Amino acid sequence: MRLILLGPPGAGKGTQAQRLVAKHGIVQLSTGEMLRAAAAAGTPVGNRAKAIMDRGELVPDDVMVQIIADRTAQPDSARGFILDGFPRTVAQAEALDALLEKMRQSLDSVIEIKVEDALLVERIAGRAKETGGARADDNADTLRKRLSVYWAQTKPVADYYARKGMLKVIDGVGSVEEVAARIEDLLSAVTEA
Ligand code: AMP
Repeated sequence: MRLILLGPPGAGKGTQAQRLVAKHGIVQLSTGEMLRAAAAAGTPVGNRAKAIMDRGELVPDDVMVQIIADRTAQPDSARGFILDGFPRTVAQAEALDALLEKMRQSLDSVIEIKVEDALLVERIAGRAKETGGARADDNADTLRKRLSVYWAQTKPVADYYARKGMLKVIDGVGSVEEVAARIEDLLSAVTEA
């Protein structure tokens, strides 16, 4: 199974992706996690990305596409994957299409988790408290920037998949379990189809 989880920062993509990994035995490819790991390791890409992430902006498309091309070529991606945080621009979505075509693979589902901005601000503030500020970009100023980047650059990715008839939208308001159940309903409909 190959899935994309779309949605604004704080929508619950990472949390839901982790549950899907446990349930379906596929890997979670979180570009944000990969960049944070590269930054922590002090690699050249990581160092460049850190400054961009701290500002709440997007890392250039060519860097991200290369990261995903390398990662999806790893053996553990062969059984399937959940993309969490990628694609974040229409150019990334187009590059992913080309990549999947080359690998003779296709996406099973693109799921957008919808949550209104006011609730996201609350959730991210909660996450910052829980993690003791582990993520430098989980602060009010950077979040505002990340949300505006989301609406300007990532929302069009949902429209891109909607035009292809692939987008499924779910309500991201509720408990982790409630949202997970909505995703499972959707996925069972996809696998039965
Ligand atoms: P996330 O953990 O998905 O919220 O990502 C944290 C930050 O990493 C984002 O605010 C971006 O700066 C960067 N990032 C993650 N994924 C991408 C991507 N696909 N394209 C560009 N930048 C990304």
